[in-house]
Amino acid sequence: MDADVLIIGAGLMGVSTALQLAMRGCRCIVFEKASPGRHASGSNAGGLRQLNRDPAEIPLAREAARMWQTIESLVDSDCDARFPGQLRIAENQADMEKLEQRASMVRSLGYQHEEIIGKKQLYDLVPALAANCVGALVCREDGYARPYHALTAFRRKAESLGVIFHSSTEVEKVEQLGDDWQIQTTKDNFKGSVLVNCAGAWAGKIAEMLNEKVPLEPKALMLMVTERLPHFVDPVMGAASRKLSFKQMQNGTLIIGGALVAKLDFRREKTDINWHQLVESANTVLHFFPQLKDVRIVRAWAGIEGFMPDNIPVIGASQTQKNAYHALGFSAHGFQLSPVIGVIMSQLILDGKTEFPIEPFSISRFENK
Ligand SMILES: Cc1cc2nc3c(=O)[nH]c(=O)nc-3n(C[C@H](O)[C@H](O)[C@H](O)COP(=O)(O)OP(=O)(O)OC[C@H]3O[C@@H](n4cnc5c(N)ncnc54)[C@H](O)[C@@H]3O)c2cc1C
Repeated sequence: MDADVLIIGAGLMGVSTALQLAMRGCRCIVFEKASPGRHASGSNAGGLRQLNRDPAEIPLAREAARMWQTIESLVDSDCDARFPGQLRIAENQADMEKLEQRASMVRSLGYQHEEIIGKKQLYDLVPALAANCVGALVCREDGYARPYHALTAFRRKAESLGVIFHSSTEVEKVEQLGDDWQIQTTKDNFKGSVLVNCAGAWAGKIAEMLNEKVPLEPKALMLMVTERLPHFVDPVMGAASRKLSFKQMQNGTLIIGGALVAKLDFRREKTDINWHQLVESANTVLHFFPQLKDVRIVRAWAGIEGFMPDNIPVIGASQTQKNAYHALGFSAHGFQLSPVIGVIMSQLILDGKTEFPIEPFSISRFENK
């Protein structure tokens, strides 16, 4: 046997899973068709957001937030994580009502991390914001980290515990031999007891190899980054009724997103930036911060991510095969969850159950749909 666990995909989900398994003495091999972090995990916006999560994700996001606060104790690096909070701005009374409804729904579930603030508190928090906003929904524990630093720290720690990474090694076929797995890659064949599908936007193909259908849709999400500016904003900014995600990093650059998609040639893994949409995105930022009108955009890019129809992931055991597991479909908000996904996957694999409520993430929720 080459390993106890064979993991497909060296994005954060695969690497975090390998790390947690290795911490419990498991021998893991991670296969990556490109290089670790080449796709969503290395190209995302780094947002650590609990704010406005689907209720099913809240327990996981709460634990992930706790883990990010002390991430150095797990991976020997702080991953450049900062916690200035994230907020969603209300521009009028209708926005405010929407945010108040959200806050009271979250409170009714027993959580206190999403908090309504009025106009004065909003302008105390973001003095540079244009006039006429009326309040916001805030999660003060939220923030951001640097995705590639995080991926590298997780990978190095996993390697130090014996995890083997095979880069430029695509898994082409998986086959069950009794209770074990044999996988065929572009380089060699490998045997292991357990198979884990963490193949990101390509995870649907791996699920198909397990005779399991999953309605995963690959999309290419765009981001842009500006030149460095003097510090002017702390929290990560979103808005109640506009597509906006915007933060100022420690080095002064602004990372601007907002769920806008590029044209994607999935087969060739090629993305074409939609500049018209990025202009819209820049205009949304200018609406809230008109003083940025002469700031230069220095780069734009797109990262390929797997989306589910209900925008929550699939986490758990395969329903068709023994000793096979999925963690896929993170729908553009998996970075924050990645530390806890490793814990959940390791518990499922080694203990046969997890302490976290993962029923809403079952792959079987799409049966008969
Ligand atoms: C532009 C953008 C911005 C985002 N912003 C945020 C954010 O601010 N906050 C947040 O929480 N989340 C964010 N996300 C989402 C987050 O990045 C993803 O949910 C997360 O990184 C998914 O990790 P993963 O390991 O599942 O996938 P990936 O990182 O894509 O890793 C999957 C890996 O599997 C490999 N692979 C696939 N098939 C095979 C095969 N057959 N053999 C070998 N290897 C294979 C791929 O090459 C890939 O490297 C964003 C995503 C994007 C694209």
